[in-house]
Amino acid sequence: MALLSPACRKDLDAIAIPHHPSWDPVGLMAVRSYVRQQLAALGDVEEHSFRRGSHEGVNLILKLPGRNPRSRPLLVGAHYDGPLQSIGADDNASAVAALLELGRRWSKAPPRRPVWLVAFDLEEWGLIGSTVLAEQLKADRQRLKLMVSLEMLA
Ligand SMILES: [Zn+2]
Repeated sequence: MALLSPACRKDLDAIAIPHHPSWDPVGLMAVRSYVRQQLAALGDVEEHSFRRGSHEGVNLILKLPGRNPRSRPLLVGAHYDGPLQSIGADDNASAVAALLELGRRWSKAPPRRPVWLVAFDLEEWGLIGSTVLAEQLKADRQRLKLMVSLEMLA
């Protein structure tokens, strides 16, 4: 049997609510606010706001410097927007909870290279949040060591 830490359980309870961008925008705002608050406890959170067509979203980015801040960063992402007709416990509260847990661990015991934790918005709408950030990083000539996307870990 898998054991969840109390913090992980709290994350799942807060995120696994109806929070689809169109059908449950208030739920999505609540989840965004919760994730921002959890990340902000670990460091400065950048809000990457974007618009694509009629869609507006906000990626939340926490950059942990690591022990060697000049190394190329590892980007770990998970989308926090919810799916249609589901509370999204697996898709994708499970992965956002894992993202937050990684953040808590890595802020206490920094890894060698910088780690960027990104909670993506509007991924269920066609990977909009990650596409917009990837375009931004390319325009900034910001290189990454690796990008890992956490998805449906339950
Ligand atoms: Zn998903």
